Amino acid sequence: MKQGKKHPRLKPPPLWHCPRCGAKLVTRDMWHSCGNYTIKDLFARSEPNVIRIFRTLAAMVRECGPVTIIPQKTRVVFQVRVRFLGCTPRRSYLLCNPRVHSQKAALQVPEGHDVCQALART
Ligand SMILES: [Zn+2]
Repeated sequence: MKQGKKHPRLKPPPLWHCPRCGAKLVTRDMWHSCGNYTIKDLFARSEPNVIRIFRTLAAMVRECGPVTIIPQKTRVVFQVRVRFLGCTPRRSYLLCNPRVHSQKAALQVPEGHDVCQALART
């Protein structure tokens, strides 16, 4: 290969759509919480500050680029191509599990943003 020649960019295959719930998944028949859930129902048993923290987090993630936010049975997930962050609402706090080890799921926080400081102000 010639020096300086770019590698052809491989276009990822299209996402598979679950016929029952419409979920968009990287592979066919990938396990997921199949169903239609709402943010309102998911946070129904949480104190009001928990959904405020979630909304602040969601707004900060959206500032990084387009993202799909998917409420599931027990958590809400953030997806670009893959799901890279799951948040489970508890009564008085929001339990977040980022999947930052995935290169496909790299999340770039804009310069000057500090998630922890922003959430502490919520
Ligand atoms: Zn489904």
